[in-house]
Amino acid sequence: TVRVRFAPSPTGMFHVGGARSALHNWVFARQHGGALVLRIEDTDASRNRPEWTEGIIRALAWLGIDEDQYEGPFFQSTNADKHREAVERLRAAGRAYFCDCTRDDVIARTGDSYRGYDGHCRDRGLEPGPGRALRFRTPDEGTTTVVDLIRDKPTFENATIEDFVIARGDGSVLFMLANVVDDMVQGITHVIRAEEHLSNTPKQQLLWEALGEQPPIWAHVPVVVNEKRQKLSKRRDKVALEDYQAEGFLAEAMRNYLMLLGWAPSGDREIVPWSVVEEEFRLEDVNPSPAFFDVKKLRAFNGEYIRALPVEEFTERCAPWLREPYAPWSPEQYDPAVFARLAPLAQTRVAVLSEITAMVDFAFLDEPVIDEASWNKAMKEPAADILRGALEAFQDAEWTAEELKARAEEIGARHGLKLGKAQAPIRVAVTGRTVGLPLFESLQIIGRDRTLARVRAALD
Ligand code: GLU
Repeated sequence: TVRVRFAPSPTGMFHVGGARSALHNWVFARQHGGALVLRIEDTDASRNRPEWTEGIIRALAWLGIDEDQYEGPFFQSTNADKHREAVERLRAAGRAYFCDCTRDDVIARTGDSYRGYDGHCRDRGLEPGPGRALRFRTPDEGTTTVVDLIRDKPTFENATIEDFVIARGDGSVLFMLANVVDDMVQGITHVIRAEEHLSNTPKQQLLWEALGEQPPIWAHVPVVVNEKRQKLSKRRDKVALEDYQAEGFLAEAMRNYLMLLGWAPSGDREIVPWSVVEEEFRLEDVNPSPAFFDVKKLRAFNGEYIRALPVEEFTERCAPWLREPYAPWSPEQYDPAVFARLAPLAQTRVAVLSEITAMVDFAFLDEPVIDEASWNKAMKEPAADILRGALEAFQDAEWTAEELKARAEEIGARHGLKLGKAQAPIRVAVTGRTVGLPLFESLQIIGRDRTLARVRAALD
């Protein structure tokens, strides 16, 4: 039976690339009625922090990978005995040897840059001792072929695979070995992970074989790049899943988009229910070339998901952005009945939920937040005349959007202006900005008194 694992290292914010690997593993496990193991690779004690582990678990749950979807979390550090045992077995079988060469020693022997270990200590028969690392002896001849669902059968010349270190002088083991031993102990059948590990694969497969086990099937999912075709990096790009969540990307849009990196469902579709992804996704169909993480497209995508929500659900999802720390109004100023009327207008206009705050703040604050650039743009001649005209015309108008619009059109016509231009000063006076929700509906919702007070204030 299929057993896969997601094996993040808790050394930073959980990354969109990691999220994609987790989704691939999850979908694969579900498609095969198999199990997903969550393994936290916490052996690099200097870089680990418990909050990163918590962040991973929270982010997975947000994407739909709740704790009932996986076994674990297991922690790599708790497997230390098994790692040492494997190291000892390899040493006892003559598959590993002690080495006291420094990098500089190797360079001095082999040329002016490090091109891999030269095998100097292979047959020196060194005993264990301080500063002596243990190296795995790789074959000198032949090839190592790995089965990769995305890349077919990458084949590596064994002569190019250096004798690599599996344990340091202090006895601590390296990733290469710990990762293999954990996969073995946990009965992993398929290793689905990021492309950056592809070059480790022949080394790891040699370890599997040396330890007398059948290696897993591999799948290395393509690297994710930005618009400049650079690998996504936390210094350059927005990569933390949590940041996307805080900006108001919907989990269902996010996870669907992540699955589209290098893959597409049938029939030229991009937005499909998750059940279609689970049914149609095949690792074999994933394109091995770098996948462009297109934030613009993701935003558009998210907007479509938002528009597809029932309005009550949209309202619920907006809740975090309608209170502290996002909202500039106090709980007393907020009126859910007013929001309920604004929500349908806003739902078609936001791409991410965080945009809701600025879109509706005028309805809750006592005075609008005036955006200076908007003010300078809109309050040019004949803005004052228009505002005076509105003040007069709105005084006794029937308070409906249609009527207010008709009045504004009349005022504009007097100045030879189309409605779009004529309404700009009114919009800035009432909402503080040149862009926003449909103006006359907004006025209808906030009412005559507040509208007139704001127009008056703008004239002062
Ligand atoms: N801890 C490794 C990483 O986060 C896991 C590699 C693997 O999946 O084998 O890159």
